[in-house]
Amino acid sequence: LLAIKDLYKEYGGKPVLKGIDLQVPRGEVIVVLGPSGCGKSTLLRCLNGLEPIQKGDILLSGQSLIRGKVDWEQIRQQIGMVFQNYDLFPHMTVIENILLGPTKVQNRERSQVMEQAKALLERVGLFDRMDAWPRELSGGQKQRIAIVRALCMNPEIMLFDEVTASLDPEMVREVLDVMLGLAKQGMTMIIVTHEMGFAQAVADRVVFMDSGTVCEIAGPQEFFNNPRTERAKQFLNIFQ
Ligand code: ATP
Ligand code: MG
Repeated sequence: LLAIKDLYKEYGGKPVLKGIDLQVPRGEVIVVLGPSGCGKSTLLRCLNGLEPIQKGDILLSGQSLIRGKVDWEQIRQQIGMVFQNYDLFPHMTVIENILLGPTKVQNRERSQVMEQAKALLERVGLFDRMDAWPRELSGGQKQRIAIVRALCMNPEIMLFDEVTASLDPEMVREVLDVMLGLAKQGMTMIIVTHEMGFAQAVADRVVFMDSGTVCEIAGPQEFFNNPRTERAKQFLNIFQ
């Protein structure tokens, strides 16, 4: 579904991604781990066209996101993204936040999207907060709404960048559970997280990055029990 080929990216002459290669088949859950500053967020931002790259290619369903004329409005509908800091529009209620993209960008029938939105809200346990304002929600609730909002666009793939990092511990679980549910349903996902237990449970493959390169790609059991590289061992020691 997604292919990243020799992706190279620098900020003002400073290399941040130094030749990333990664294939993500449909239905796979990739967890990206690595120390702060290694380039995880930058990688996700490149996949969503938020950052220009200097070299390499990114293919979504065989179509280059780098070469030729790229219809980003269309691409972004296929790539859902949720960030660390809840980005709900504060002046819109929960349901208005969710309906905005599908009705305005995708021109879908409001009633049809509404049905989908209600089903998704039900699934994340927030059906009764449909008419609430973002400021009336907890951090964990806001993140679950942000996930529903992204899902309502019917993306092919979901990108998550430390979506639980700003949450109080008691709210982390409810958000991780939503992501685990998506994984079970077969959603293709790339997840950046520092929740190691969750990473082990949800990942089909772990991608370990360090200073702009992919150091190690392995199954979760193998990575957590028997990391091959010294840098991965050091990284995992911090969490023990
Ligand atoms: P963390 O775990 O702390 O979120 P990360 O792995 O997501 O880290 P990135 O945010 O991708 O790391 O940053 C990678 C490198 O790029 C860092 O050295 C950072 O300082 C640099 N960087 C990120 N964004 C910019 C920017 N807009 N301009 C210049 N340098 C940047
Ligand atoms: Mg980051």
